[in-house]
Amino acid sequence: MTLVFATNNAHKLKEVKQILPSVYAVLSLADIGCHEEIEETGETLEANSLLKAQFVSHWLQQHPYSTSIDGVFADDTGLEVVCLNNAPGVHTARFAGEPVSDQRNRAKLLQVMSAVPVNQRTARFRTVVTLIRHGQTIQVEGIVNGSIACEERGTEGFGYDSLFIPEGYNKCFAELSQEEKNSISHRGRAMQRLKETL
Ligand code: IMP
Repeated sequence: MTLVFATNNAHKLKEVKQILPSVYAVLSLADIGCHEEIEETGETLEANSLLKAQFVSHWLQQHPYSTSIDGVFADDTGLEVVCLNNAPGVHTARFAGEPVSDQRNRAKLLQVMSAVPVNQRTARFRTVVTLIRHGQTIQVEGIVNGSIACEERGTEGFGYDSLFIPEGYNKCFAELSQEEKNSISHRGRAMQRLKETL
């Protein structure tokens, strides 16, 4: 089965390829030659995830691809920090404004939480995956609870991985192996659900 993952994020693509068994061939936007910027104008993760999947689904109708494509899916992820009223949420990617940078986002998160004690740094990562296949649209969600570290730790992963400590661990995602992260992460859980619906 060949699926297009509506992303250009090499980290997300690598994770998803590791999570899905090899019967699924996963193509990125670059693989299918779609180089357009998809505006994430939705107010929720659900809306943005849907918007990305629909965009690529329509794009494919106008740009027939040589290999037959069985479906398109997109993921939208948000970090929800309890003491920040669940911000940055849908604005996670642009938390520190322009120019968009993971490093600036992490610095801003540490700065706005500098006075927050360890026991009040609860947060969760939430991913919404939308699959469009045979004209049907399905959404699944994956959540991992945890907390925000007081300083960056670890060198693996991307985004906020060096600041997010999953519940039950005393290490950040960036200190875990890719397999360990995938086995408990928001994306790992959402993709597991997607696999069950496939
Ligand atoms: P988006 O889903 O591509 O819009 O990503 C939202 C933001 O969350 C970006 O800043 C990403 O770097 C970050 N992000 C997405 N997934 C992860 C993850 O698995 N770990 C850490 N940060 C992530």
